[in-house]
Amino acid sequence: MDPITDPGILDGYLTDASNLHGRASGLYRPRTPEEVAEVLAACQRTGTPVTVVARRTSTTGAPVPDGGVILSTEHLDRVHALDDVDAGVLLGEYQAGVERQGWMFTPDPTSRNECTVGGAIACNASGARTFKYGPTRPWVEAVQLVTPTGEIRWIDRTTPLPWPLPAWDEPKVKTAAGYYPATNLLDLIIGAEGTLGVVTRARLKLLPLPAAVLTVFTYFPDRASMLAFVVTARTMGPRCIEYFDRHSLDLIRGRVPAVPVADSAILLEIEHDGEPPLDAWFEALAAHGALLDDTIVADDDAGRAKLHAVRHALPATVNEIIARNGVQKVGTDFAVPAAALAEMMAAYDQPAQGSGAIATVCFGHIGDSHLHLNFLPNDAVELAEARRRYLALAQKAVALGGTVSAEHGIGRLKKAHLALMAPPAVIDGWRAYKRAADPNWILGRGVMFDR
Ligand SMILES: Cc1cc2nc3c(=O)[nH]c(=O)nc-3n(C[C@H](O)[C@H](O)[C@H](O)COP(=O)(O)OP(=O)(O)OC[C@H]3O[C@@H](n4cnc5c(N)ncnc54)[C@H](O)[C@@H]3O)c2cc1C
Repeated sequence: MDPITDPGILDGYLTDASNLHGRASGLYRPRTPEEVAEVLAACQRTGTPVTVVARRTSTTGAPVPDGGVILSTEHLDRVHALDDVDAGVLLGEYQAGVERQGWMFTPDPTSRNECTVGGAIACNASGARTFKYGPTRPWVEAVQLVTPTGEIRWIDRTTPLPWPLPAWDEPKVKTAAGYYPATNLLDLIIGAEGTLGVVTRARLKLLPLPAAVLTVFTYFPDRASMLAFVVTARTMGPRCIEYFDRHSLDLIRGRVPAVPVADSAILLEIEHDGEPPLDAWFEALAAHGALLDDTIVADDDAGRAKLHAVRHALPATVNEIIARNGVQKVGTDFAVPAAALAEMMAAYDQPAQGSGAIATVCFGHIGDSHLHLNFLPNDAVELAEARRRYLALAQKAVALGGTVSAEHGIGRLKKAHLALMAPPAVIDGWRAYKRAADPNWILGRGVMFDR
């Protein structure tokens, strides 16, 4: 295969949602696993770096090339069977297809309509429903992998690890940071951020679609009431519990009817088989001081889609603002143990001593004690200060037993934060594994950890 070298085309592949910009000398858009293998084998021979890109919704710079060539999965785009799909298929389109036939593929990153199945696998993506169903990993049965040396093979949980991984106690929270302490090759590839092979096709695990889903969007006058409600809600079996702080509410004002003056809002999704459990939920909401008159309830797909659109609008608006301000994204992706959530949120409130105020928006997966505090710096000075605060918050999350990335991964932008959490000996062990799998370190060079 010959690479595309037209700068006008290449330019469209040099950035991601973090707004980091890269460079590359060529672009491959293979249509088959054999073509992927041909590119990787040739690049391995010449030691040419290869960055796998899908839809570039990553927020960490992971698909942003730093020299070498780009390998796009966009033409690996066939759905072979209900549970058998090419990596470049859009996740949301795939999910809509299986849902029409009464099935559900549970991983639901907020970016589901923009990202690919392969990207979700490479990042072990999560989403709101992760609270009930976990991240992408358990929902993948097998993948077709092209190894960094150009070998094509199907792997599943019976495929042994070809080389040992270092022992590592991951934090006991939802996490997508570093190589997973896997005991088989499939579990390692899921979440390896495109550094250990190209996923070209996947066999996925589906669940029957629930009969109905009740969606509740409610407001709280203060944080203590909201947090007490979340503790109760976790025991009531919803599939998601999502949080919006008051700055988020300011951003979505106009998209939801009559947003009241409130400290925060919570979005819940509750699966049921026909009888929406409204009484139990309203009792719990009332007991914790929720603003009942302003609470919105939807028990159909259209109502749920509207509230989903509001949830999606938040990160999308944040990304638009940072792109408009010409700065890179500084947004936390930390999860902490449930018992440490209030302390972590208090740290999000406090500007570090001596620093000026920078606009922030905080929202996310509070069921998993996993919030995104997004800084909205106006210029380079505020960007530097936001990064300083971010680092202090990452140290705090780790000290509380949390992770520096619960779902977005490490990419190029969060390597220093991974090093706060994973001891040097563990990162050295990952380096040894990577060197064995990818002798010339061609795939995702500079992603997750350095050579
Ligand atoms: C508005 C918005 C909301 C988001 N919400 C969420 C969320 O709720 N949960 C969440 O987890 N993430 C979220 N993300 C992050 C992002 O969407 C996910 O990480 C997604 O999985 C990336 O998929 P992609 O197809 O865009 O991959 P890309 O961004 O193109 O690539 C991401 C990484 O995966 C690698 N990769 C991609 N495809 C393959 C493949 N086939 N084989 C090997 N490696 C591959 C790339 O090399 C890169 O390292 C959000 C992003 C945005 C912009």
